[in-house]
Amino acid sequence: MKKDKILVIGACGQIGVELTLALRKMYGDANVIASDLREEHELLKGSGPYVSLDVMNKEMLHVLVIRHNITQIYLLAAILSATGEKNPLLAWHINMASLLNVLDIAKEEGIDKVYWPSSIAVFGPDSPKDSTPQHTIIEPTTIYGISKFAGERWCEYYHHRYGVDVRSLRYPGLISYKSAPGGGTTDYAIEIFHEALEEKKYTCFLSEGTYLPMMYMPDAIRATIELMEADKEKIKVRSSYNLGAMSFSPKEIAAEIKKHIPEFTIDYAPDYRQAIADGWPQSIDDEKARNDWGWKPEYCLEKMTTDMLKNLKETVQ
Ligand code: NAD
Repeated sequence: MKKDKILVIGACGQIGVELTLALRKMYGDANVIASDLREEHELLKGSGPYVSLDVMNKEMLHVLVIRHNITQIYLLAAILSATGEKNPLLAWHINMASLLNVLDIAKEEGIDKVYWPSSIAVFGPDSPKDSTPQHTIIEPTTIYGISKFAGERWCEYYHHRYGVDVRSLRYPGLISYKSAPGGGTTDYAIEIFHEALEEKKYTCFLSEGTYLPMMYMPDAIRATIELMEADKEKIKVRSSYNLGAMSFSPKEIAAEIKKHIPEFTIDYAPDYRQAIADGWPQSIDDEKARNDWGWKPEYCLEKMTTDMLKNLKETVQ
Protein backbone atom coordinates (compact mmCIF):
# COMPACT_ATOMS: atom_id res chain seq x y z
CA MET A 1 0.00 0.00 0.00
CA LYS A 2 1.20 3.49 -0.84
CA LYS A 3 1.41 6.28 1.75
CA ASP A 4 -0.45 8.93 -0.21
CA LYS A 5 -3.58 10.63 1.10
CA ILE A 6 -6.04 11.34 -1.67
CA LEU A 7 -8.99 13.73 -1.88
CA VAL A 8 -11.61 13.07 -4.58
CA ILE A 9 -13.87 16.09 -5.21
CA GLY A 10 -17.14 15.29 -6.99
CA ALA A 11 -16.87 11.66 -5.85
CA CYS A 12 -20.60 10.93 -6.21
CA GLY A 13 -20.74 11.57 -9.96
CA GLN A 14 -20.56 9.21 -12.91
CA ILE A 15 -16.77 8.98 -12.85
CA GLY A 16 -16.19 9.80 -9.19
CA VAL A 17 -17.87 6.71 -7.74
CA GLU A 18 -15.87 4.25 -9.82
CA LEU A 19 -12.61 6.18 -9.55
CA THR A 20 -12.92 6.45 -5.76
CA LEU A 21 -13.51 2.70 -5.44
CA ALA A 22 -10.53 1.97 -7.71
CA LEU A 23 -8.25 4.33 -5.76
CA ARG A 24 -9.35 2.80 -2.46
CA LYS A 25 -8.27 -0.62 -3.74
CA MET A 26 -4.83 0.77 -4.61
CA TYR A 27 -4.14 3.12 -1.71
CA GLY A 28 -6.23 1.62 1.11
CA ASP A 29 -9.80 2.64 2.02
CA ALA A 30 -8.83 5.07 4.79
CA ASN A 31 -6.41 6.95 2.52
CA VAL A 32 -8.96 8.03 -0.06
CA ILE A 33 -11.38 10.70 1.12
CA ALA A 34 -14.50 11.03 -1.02
CA SER A 35 -16.22 14.43 -1.09
CA ASP A 36 -19.19 15.95 -2.87
CA LEU A 37 -22.03 18.45 -2.53
CA ARG A 38 -24.51 15.59 -2.72
CA GLU A 39 -25.28 12.91 -0.18
CA GLU A 40 -22.85 10.02 -0.18
CA HIS A 41 -23.51 7.65 -3.10
CA GLU A 42 -24.93 4.23 -2.19
CA LEU A 43 -21.95 2.44 -3.76
CA LEU A 44 -19.48 4.43 -1.65
CA LYS A 45 -21.22 3.89 1.67
CA GLY A 46 -19.09 1.89 4.07
CA SER A 47 -16.11 1.80 1.72
CA GLY A 48 -14.12 4.68 3.25
CA PRO A 49 -14.22 8.25 4.60
CA TYR A 50 -16.73 10.72 3.19
CA VAL A 51 -16.98 14.47 3.73
CA SER A 52 -19.53 16.96 2.51
CA LEU A 53 -17.68 19.67 0.54
CA ASP A 54 -18.52 22.57 -1.73
CA VAL A 55 -15.37 23.04 -3.81
CA MET A 56 -16.40 26.67 -4.38
CA ASN A 57 -15.67 27.30 -0.70
CA LYS A 58 -11.89 27.73 -0.92
CA GLU A 59 -11.34 28.14 2.81
CA MET A 60 -13.19 24.97 3.64
CA LEU A 61 -11.25 23.10 0.96
CA HIS A 62 -7.96 24.49 2.26
CA VAL A 63 -8.72 23.42 5.83
CA LEU A 64 -9.70 19.94 4.66
CA VAL A 65 -6.45 19.57 2.69
CA ILE A 66 -4.33 20.62 5.69
CA ARG A 67 -6.29 18.66 8.29
CA HIS A 68 -6.05 15.40 6.36
CA ASN A 69 -2.49 15.89 5.06
CA ILE A 70 -3.74 15.48 1.51
CA THR A 71 -1.02 14.61 -1.04
CA GLN A 72 -3.14 14.14 -4.20
CA ILE A 73 -6.35 15.81 -5.37
CA TYR A 74 -8.72 14.51 -8.05
CA LEU A 75 -11.11 17.28 -9.08
CA LEU A 76 -14.18 15.85 -10.81
CA ALA A 77 -16.84 18.43 -9.83
CA ALA A 78 -18.07 20.31 -12.91
CA ILE A 79 -21.11 21.42 -14.85
CA LEU A 80 -21.29 19.24 -17.98
CA SER A 81 -21.99 20.18 -21.61
CA ALA A 82 -25.77 19.92 -21.94
CA THR A 83 -26.46 21.36 -18.47
CA GLY A 84 -23.92 24.13 -19.12
CA GLU A 85 -25.78 25.39 -22.17
CA LYS A 86 -28.86 25.98 -19.99
CA ASN A 87 -26.95 28.28 -17.62
CA PRO A 88 -23.68 29.40 -19.25
CA LEU A 89 -22.56 31.90 -16.62
CA LEU A 90 -23.05 29.42 -13.81
CA ALA A 91 -21.16 26.73 -15.75
CA TRP A 92 -18.26 29.11 -16.40
CA HIS A 93 -18.18 30.23 -12.78
CA ILE A 94 -18.22 26.74 -11.28
CA ASN A 95 -15.88 25.11 -13.80
CA MET A 96 -13.26 27.86 -13.49
CA ALA A 97 -13.43 28.70 -9.79
CA SER A 98 -13.32 25.04 -8.73
CA LEU A 99 -10.15 24.45 -10.74
CA LEU A 100 -8.46 27.67 -9.62
CA ASN A 101 -9.25 26.89 -5.98
CA VAL A 102 -7.64 23.47 -6.32
CA LEU A 103 -4.61 24.64 -8.31
CA ASP A 104 -3.92 27.46 -5.92
CA ILE A 105 -4.16 25.31 -2.81
CA ALA A 106 -1.98 22.69 -4.53
CA LYS A 107 0.63 25.37 -5.14
CA GLU A 108 0.45 26.71 -1.60
CA GLU A 109 0.49 23.36 0.19
CA GLY A 110 2.94 21.62 -2.17
CA ILE A 111 0.43 18.93 -3.13
CA ASP A 112 2.25 16.07 -4.95
CA LYS A 113 -0.21 15.58 -7.80
CA VAL A 114 -3.49 17.00 -9.10
CA TYR A 115 -5.86 15.37 -11.58
CA TRP A 116 -8.45 17.36 -13.51
CA PRO A 117 -10.30 16.08 -16.58
CA SER A 118 -10.82 18.07 -19.74
CA SER A 119 -13.01 16.89 -22.62
CA ILE A 120 -13.26 16.45 -26.39
CA ALA A 121 -15.58 19.49 -26.04
CA VAL A 122 -12.49 21.73 -26.28
CA PHE A 123 -12.63 21.13 -30.04
CA GLY A 124 -15.02 23.14 -32.18
CA PRO A 125 -16.59 23.11 -35.65
CA ASP A 126 -13.31 24.26 -37.26
CA SER A 127 -11.20 21.47 -35.77
CA PRO A 128 -10.61 18.46 -38.05
CA LYS A 129 -13.45 16.00 -37.39
CA ASP A 130 -11.67 12.69 -38.02
CA SER A 131 -8.71 11.63 -35.91
CA THR A 132 -8.63 15.08 -34.35
CA PRO A 133 -4.98 15.70 -33.44
CA GLN A 134 -3.60 16.76 -30.05
CA HIS A 135 -2.55 20.14 -31.42
CA THR A 136 -4.96 21.70 -33.90
CA ILE A 137 -7.50 24.53 -34.23
CA ILE A 138 -9.21 24.77 -30.86
CA GLU A 139 -12.18 27.11 -30.99
CA PRO A 140 -14.90 25.62 -28.76
CA THR A 141 -18.41 27.00 -29.15
CA THR A 142 -20.10 25.60 -26.01
CA ILE A 143 -19.52 27.22 -22.63
CA TYR A 144 -18.46 23.81 -21.35
CA GLY A 145 -15.80 23.57 -24.07
CA ILE A 146 -14.67 27.13 -23.47
CA SER A 147 -14.29 26.46 -19.73
CA LYS A 148 -12.39 23.22 -20.39
CA PHE A 149 -10.02 24.93 -22.81
CA ALA A 150 -9.40 27.79 -20.39
CA GLY A 151 -8.87 25.19 -17.65
CA GLU A 152 -6.24 23.42 -19.76
CA ARG A 153 -4.34 26.69 -20.16
CA TRP A 154 -4.50 27.25 -16.38
CA CYS A 155 -3.17 23.73 -15.73
CA GLU A 156 -0.22 24.30 -18.04
CA TYR A 157 0.36 27.72 -16.48
CA TYR A 158 0.41 26.37 -12.91
CA HIS A 159 2.77 23.62 -14.00
CA HIS A 160 5.25 25.85 -15.82
CA ARG A 161 5.06 28.82 -13.46
CA TYR A 162 4.75 27.11 -10.06
CA GLY A 163 5.76 23.50 -10.72
CA VAL A 164 2.37 22.04 -9.78
CA ASP A 165 2.26 18.44 -11.03
CA VAL A 166 -1.16 18.63 -12.62
CA ARG A 167 -2.22 15.97 -15.12
CA SER A 168 -5.23 15.86 -17.38
CA LEU A 169 -7.10 13.82 -20.00
CA ARG A 170 -9.57 14.96 -22.64
CA TYR A 171 -12.18 12.28 -22.01
CA PRO A 172 -14.50 11.28 -24.81
CA GLY A 173 -18.14 10.41 -23.94
CA LEU A 174 -18.03 7.91 -21.09
CA ILE A 175 -20.34 4.91 -20.89
CA SER A 176 -21.00 3.16 -17.59
CA TYR A 177 -23.66 1.26 -15.67
CA LYS A 178 -22.77 1.89 -12.00
CA SER A 179 -23.64 5.57 -11.49
CA ALA A 180 -25.88 7.84 -13.53
CA PRO A 181 -24.48 10.32 -16.07
CA GLY A 182 -24.42 14.01 -15.16
CA GLY A 183 -25.95 15.92 -18.11
CA GLY A 184 -23.61 15.40 -21.05
CA THR A 185 -24.27 15.26 -24.80
CA THR A 186 -23.11 11.65 -25.00
CA ASP A 187 -25.53 10.45 -22.28
CA TYR A 188 -27.73 8.87 -25.01
CA ALA A 189 -25.21 6.03 -25.25
CA ILE A 190 -26.04 5.11 -21.64
CA GLU A 191 -29.80 5.73 -21.72
CA ILE A 192 -30.10 3.48 -24.78
CA PHE A 193 -28.99 0.42 -22.79
CA HIS A 194 -31.47 1.04 -19.98
CA GLU A 195 -34.35 1.64 -22.40
CA ALA A 196 -33.40 -1.35 -24.54
CA LEU A 197 -33.64 -3.64 -21.53
CA GLU A 198 -36.70 -2.05 -19.93
CA GLU A 199 -38.82 -0.76 -22.87
CA LYS A 200 -37.26 -2.52 -25.89
CA LYS A 201 -37.33 0.86 -27.68
CA TYR A 202 -35.48 4.17 -27.46
CA THR A 203 -35.97 7.66 -28.84
CA CYS A 204 -32.54 9.19 -29.38
CA PHE A 205 -31.88 12.92 -28.91
CA LEU A 206 -29.14 12.79 -31.59
CA SER A 207 -29.63 11.89 -35.27
CA GLU A 208 -28.76 8.39 -36.51
CA GLY A 209 -25.50 9.34 -38.23
CA THR A 210 -23.94 11.41 -35.42
CA TYR A 211 -20.52 9.88 -34.80
CA LEU A 212 -18.83 10.79 -31.52
CA PRO A 213 -15.71 9.53 -29.72
CA MET A 214 -16.67 7.27 -26.81
CA MET A 215 -15.04 5.15 -24.13
CA TYR A 216 -16.18 2.45 -21.70
CA MET A 217 -15.71 3.46 -18.06
CA PRO A 218 -13.20 0.68 -17.13
CA ASP A 219 -10.88 2.08 -19.83
CA ALA A 220 -11.39 5.66 -18.54
CA ILE A 221 -10.59 4.66 -14.96
CA ARG A 222 -7.51 2.73 -16.05
CA ALA A 223 -6.33 5.63 -18.24
CA THR A 224 -6.71 8.04 -15.32
CA ILE A 225 -4.77 5.82 -12.94
CA GLU A 226 -2.06 5.02 -15.49
CA LEU A 227 -1.58 8.72 -16.22
CA MET A 228 -1.34 9.53 -12.51
CA GLU A 229 1.05 6.64 -11.84
CA ALA A 230 3.35 7.47 -14.77
CA ASP A 231 6.81 8.91 -14.05
CA LYS A 232 6.78 12.68 -14.05
CA GLU A 233 9.27 12.86 -16.92
CA LYS A 234 6.90 10.93 -19.18
CA ILE A 235 4.15 13.54 -18.90
CA LYS A 236 5.03 15.87 -21.73
CA VAL A 237 1.59 17.42 -22.25
CA ARG A 238 0.67 19.64 -19.31
CA SER A 239 -2.53 21.02 -20.79
CA SER A 240 -4.51 17.81 -21.43
CA TYR A 241 -3.97 14.58 -23.38
CA ASN A 242 -6.24 13.45 -26.23
CA LEU A 243 -7.65 10.06 -25.25
CA GLY A 244 -9.46 7.69 -27.59
CA ALA A 245 -11.05 4.26 -27.64
CA MET A 246 -13.96 3.97 -30.10
CA SER A 247 -16.28 6.02 -32.30
CA PHE A 248 -19.85 5.10 -33.25
CA SER A 249 -23.22 6.60 -34.21
CA PRO A 250 -26.63 6.01 -32.58
CA LYS A 251 -27.50 3.76 -35.56
CA GLU A 252 -24.41 1.63 -35.00
CA ILE A 253 -24.87 1.18 -31.26
CA ALA A 254 -28.55 0.33 -31.84
CA ALA A 255 -27.51 -2.36 -34.35
CA GLU A 256 -25.03 -3.77 -31.83
CA ILE A 257 -27.71 -3.89 -29.10
CA LYS A 258 -30.12 -5.58 -31.55
CA LYS A 259 -27.69 -8.51 -31.79
CA HIS A 260 -28.52 -9.19 -28.13
CA ILE A 261 -32.14 -7.93 -28.04
CA PRO A 262 -33.62 -8.59 -31.54
CA GLU A 263 -36.96 -6.85 -30.80
CA PHE A 264 -35.21 -3.55 -29.86
CA THR A 265 -36.18 -0.54 -32.02
CA ILE A 266 -34.84 3.02 -32.14
CA ASP A 267 -36.21 6.29 -33.50
CA TYR A 268 -34.73 9.76 -33.57
CA ALA A 269 -35.87 13.14 -32.23
CA PRO A 270 -32.79 15.40 -32.22
CA ASP A 271 -32.98 18.29 -29.73
CA TYR A 272 -30.62 21.14 -28.68
CA ARG A 273 -27.89 18.58 -27.98
CA GLN A 274 -27.56 17.86 -31.72
CA ALA A 275 -25.97 21.28 -32.25
CA ILE A 276 -23.46 20.57 -29.46
CA ALA A 277 -22.57 17.17 -30.97
CA ASP A 278 -22.24 18.66 -34.48
CA GLY A 279 -19.42 20.91 -33.26
CA TRP A 280 -17.40 18.04 -31.79
CA PRO A 281 -14.90 15.57 -33.33
CA GLN A 282 -16.04 12.19 -34.64
CA SER A 283 -12.86 10.40 -33.64
CA ILE A 284 -9.68 11.26 -31.74
CA ASP A 285 -5.98 10.84 -32.45
CA ASP A 286 -4.43 9.88 -29.11
CA GLU A 287 -0.93 9.09 -30.36
CA LYS A 288 0.70 11.39 -27.75
CA ALA A 289 -0.91 9.50 -24.87
CA ARG A 290 0.08 6.17 -26.44
CA ASN A 291 3.69 7.27 -26.98
CA ASP A 292 4.28 9.25 -23.78
CA TRP A 293 2.82 6.94 -21.12
CA GLY A 294 1.69 3.85 -23.00
CA TRP A 295 -2.08 4.34 -23.32
CA LYS A 296 -3.96 1.47 -24.99
CA PRO A 297 -7.76 1.05 -24.85
CA GLU A 298 -9.25 -2.37 -24.26
CA TYR A 299 -12.94 -2.00 -25.13
CA CYS A 300 -14.46 -1.69 -28.62
CA LEU A 301 -18.21 -1.21 -29.28
CA GLU A 302 -18.89 -4.95 -29.46
CA LYS A 303 -17.07 -5.85 -26.24
CA MET A 304 -18.56 -2.88 -24.35
CA THR A 305 -22.13 -3.69 -25.46
CA THR A 306 -21.83 -7.29 -24.27
CA ASP A 307 -20.43 -6.19 -20.91
CA MET A 308 -22.97 -3.36 -20.39
CA LEU A 309 -25.96 -5.61 -21.08
CA LYS A 310 -24.62 -8.41 -18.90
CA ASN A 311 -24.03 -6.08 -15.94
CA LEU A 312 -27.26 -4.11 -16.34
CA LYS A 313 -29.28 -7.33 -16.50
CA GLU A 314 -27.71 -8.42 -13.21
CA THR A 315 -28.54 -5.09 -11.49
CA VAL A 316 -32.14 -5.07 -12.84
CA GLN A 317 -32.80 -8.67 -11.68
P1 NAD B 1 -21.09 14.25 -12.82
O1 NAD B 1 -21.95 15.43 -13.09
O2 NAD B 1 -21.67 12.88 -12.93
O3 NAD B 1 -20.41 14.40 -11.40
C1 NAD B 1 -19.93 15.60 -10.90
C2 NAD B 1 -20.06 15.59 -9.40
O4 NAD B 1 -19.59 16.83 -8.89
C3 NAD B 1 -21.52 15.42 -8.92
O5 NAD B 1 -21.63 14.36 -8.01
C4 NAD B 1 -21.83 16.76 -8.27
O6 NAD B 1 -22.69 16.65 -7.14
C5 NAD B 1 -20.44 17.24 -7.84
N1 NAD B 1 -20.38 18.67 -7.68
C6 NAD B 1 -20.94 19.63 -8.46
N2 NAD B 1 -20.69 20.85 -7.96
C7 NAD B 1 -19.94 20.68 -6.84
C8 NAD B 1 -19.38 21.56 -5.89
N3 NAD B 1 -19.56 22.87 -5.98
N4 NAD B 1 -18.67 21.03 -4.87
C9 NAD B 1 -18.49 19.68 -4.76
N5 NAD B 1 -19.02 18.81 -5.63
C10 NAD B 1 -19.74 19.29 -6.65
O7 NAD B 1 -19.82 14.37 -13.83
P2 NAD B 1 -18.88 13.22 -14.35
O8 NAD B 1 -19.46 12.68 -15.61
O9 NAD B 1 -18.49 12.29 -13.26
O10 NAD B 1 -17.62 14.10 -14.81
C11 NAD B 1 -16.50 14.33 -13.97
C12 NAD B 1 -15.49 15.17 -14.73
O11 NAD B 1 -15.15 14.54 -15.97
C13 NAD B 1 -16.00 16.57 -15.11
O12 NAD B 1 -14.94 17.48 -15.07
C14 NAD B 1 -16.45 16.39 -16.54
O13 NAD B 1 -16.41 17.61 -17.24
C15 NAD B 1 -15.41 15.42 -17.05
N6 NAD B 1 -15.87 14.68 -18.24
C16 NAD B 1 -16.87 13.77 -18.16
C17 NAD B 1 -17.28 13.09 -19.30
C18 NAD B 1 -18.39 12.07 -19.26
O14 NAD B 1 -18.76 11.53 -20.31
N7 NAD B 1 -18.94 11.75 -18.10
C19 NAD B 1 -16.65 13.34 -20.53
C20 NAD B 1 -15.64 14.31 -20.58
C21 NAD B 1 -15.23 14.95 -19.42
